[in-house]
Amino acid sequence: MPEMPQMQALSERIGAGFTGAAVERLEVLGFSALKTVRPSPADLAGSLLASAGRRAKYLVLDFEPAAGTSGVPLRLLVHLGNAGRLDVEEPAKASRPRGALARLGFADGRALLVREHGTQRKAGLWILAAGDDGPLAELGPEVEDEAFERLLLEGDSTRQLHTLLRDQRFLAGVGRGYADDALNRAGLSPFTSLRALDAAQRQSLVEAVRAAVADGLEAERTRSGGLSAARLGDHFAVHNRAGEPCPRCGERLQRVSFDSHEVAYCPRCQTKGKVLADRRLSRLLR
Ligand SMILES: [Zn+2]
Repeated sequence: MPEMPQMQALSERIGAGFTGAAVERLEVLGFSALKTVRPSPADLAGSLLASAGRRAKYLVLDFEPAAGTSGVPLRLLVHLGNAGRLDVEEPAKASRPRGALARLGFADGRALLVREHGTQRKAGLWILAAGDDGPLAELGPEVEDEAFERLLLEGDSTRQLHTLLRDQRFLAGVGRGYADDALNRAGLSPFTSLRALDAAQRQSLVEAVRAAVADGLEAERTRSGGLSAARLGDHFAVHNRAGEPCPRCGERLQRVSFDSHEVAYCPRCQTKGKVLADRRLSRLLR
């Protein structure tokens, strides 16, 4: 579940620790982890990390050729999916841990290992030529962009808010965790739609999404090293906290379960006191 705050803080740590470091090799360890064919992993060898950044939930590593070599600038994108993790290895290990997808080894003896828990294969890597946006081209605006504010203030989508906020083509960087937290902050039902909101509710949703993500980022900046912890949810206020008290009013948080995830909400703050038993009932609440 790494979302914008986890990935942004991770990119800052990698930038601080690895900018200028030379790549020894990118070793692909997991079948299907590499989503591109050309440029090849071998093309990265000898490149220097020029910068580490983030777009949506992607880690964006830009490389430049070392002086005096014939290489070209390249970009490596890393997406951790739902259960992907990234370990900083100092020194690099030779082992191939369970779920290992790729190891980016540096000439100074360190490495970044990308791995994935469980059986879902959602994490991946893309090697792109400079100027090729690859999967980034499809993404919506970032939370801080003015375009994001306009979308929420002027949009008339009839999709459920929780689904809409997690749609990376609509808004980049928010997933299940911060969608739950932001909707609780805004006092809005996860199952209402943008079209059903008045101007004040829309404004409060803009502010709630930005505040939830900003608080998340502040918390994530207290981590060190890679992004290795098996569970990353300790910073959420509402997400995965069904049964615990609502941070706004103290009422017991409830959940609606879906096949692959659950939505947490406060009946008092968000659904006019209604407890939603399941997906079918939730449709009545729009
Ligand atoms: Zn509440």
